[in-house]
Amino acid sequence: MIKPLRGMKDLMFDDAQRFVHIVTTAVKVAKRYGYSYIETPILEETSLFKRSVGDSSDIVSKEMYQFEDKGGNDVCMRPEGTAGVVRAFVSAKLDRQPMKQKFYYYGPMFRYERPQKGRLREFHQFGCESFGEASVYEDFTLIVMISQIFKELGIGFDLLINSLGCPECMPPYRENLVNFLTDIKEELCEDCNRRIGTNPIRVLDCKNEKCQSLLPQSPKLIDNLCESCESDFKKLTELLDEAGIAYTVDTNLVRGLDYYNKTAFEFVSNEIGAQSAIAGGGRYDKLVEYLDGKPTPAVGFAIGIERIMELVKMPQPQREGYYMGAMVPEAVEKVIMLANDKRAQKKVTVEYSSKGFKSHMKGVDKSNARFAVLIGEDELKNGTVWIKDMESKEEKTISLEEF
Ligand SMILES: [Zn+2]
Ligand SMILES: [Zn+2]
Repeated sequence: MIKPLRGMKDLMFDDAQRFVHIVTTAVKVAKRYGYSYIETPILEETSLFKRSVGDSSDIVSKEMYQFEDKGGNDVCMRPEGTAGVVRAFVSAKLDRQPMKQKFYYYGPMFRYERPQKGRLREFHQFGCESFGEASVYEDFTLIVMISQIFKELGIGFDLLINSLGCPECMPPYRENLVNFLTDIKEELCEDCNRRIGTNPIRVLDCKNEKCQSLLPQSPKLIDNLCESCESDFKKLTELLDEAGIAYTVDTNLVRGLDYYNKTAFEFVSNEIGAQSAIAGGGRYDKLVEYLDGKPTPAVGFAIGIERIMELVKMPQPQREGYYMGAMVPEAVEKVIMLANDKRAQKKVTVEYSSKGFKSHMKGVDKSNARFAVLIGEDELKNGTVWIKDMESKEEKTISLEEF
């Protein structure tokens, strides 16, 4: 028997319904905010992710589904969604148009993670990317939009926000940080010692407890922002206050890549183990340029679908549509034809074998249909159907035309 690959799984029944409910809810909200669907390939040139996700990141250095295809091309299954969307934006030359663009996407992502961590190697994300809008109003609007999606899914969350600065205020801060870290490097973990030289900002979100315990003393970018970054961050907090969205400023919320700037945010939940991220995003004004496009401000986010699967409150299933059945064999085809006509508008469950009344009524409950529709000998002869509304319990016999 062939099993799914390690870290990959099939979705069916309840889980599949949850998955569809999450995606349809997110899509519904994204459309209200003016986003349109984008579908990009799962397979891309490896260089796209090396450049966008960053060579030194764990994702690129350890976790990529990377291989050589039969034509000798170095390709990779996407580990996240933003890189492909930005690549598509540049490929379609949308960076040369004055119009702002907003895209939503959802689909599978792939990371070759260690399976003992219980992480999936194929997982799913829903995400949005907004291009051409430099205003902090857009950052705020994206946060409201995610809040709205979670609200409609019945998910509670905490919001963490930070500012990552800009090319003006980040480099002097980084220098400060490197000085601080160099002084305490004996006490930092091996990874962090390497990071001091390659990506010092990433030390701030090291998971090592010893490293974390030393960081409260570190210089904070939030105290050293330039004028523009500071006023944007202040505006964001004011807008969130006004909208009644609670947040915590988390100075350790970092990305560690040069094209991320200003607003960074993360939605976390305490309901699935110790503070797990369920969505994250922020501004990346330099990425379009980084991927050979014209400078275009951009901001986006992604929601981890598997992360919120267990948190979603599913709506109570409502009785819906019709159950149709025949009580004599001669009526079966009549029922099938009738069902197909009705399916132009409504959900119909149809039973192909003729059965007794009680047996059909069990089928009605199983299919959760609102109406039971049966054709027996009399109905067939008279050109009528017997119909019962399972909610009001009202039953009647009506002509086929009336039905
Ligand atoms: Zn700045
Ligand atoms: Zn560390």
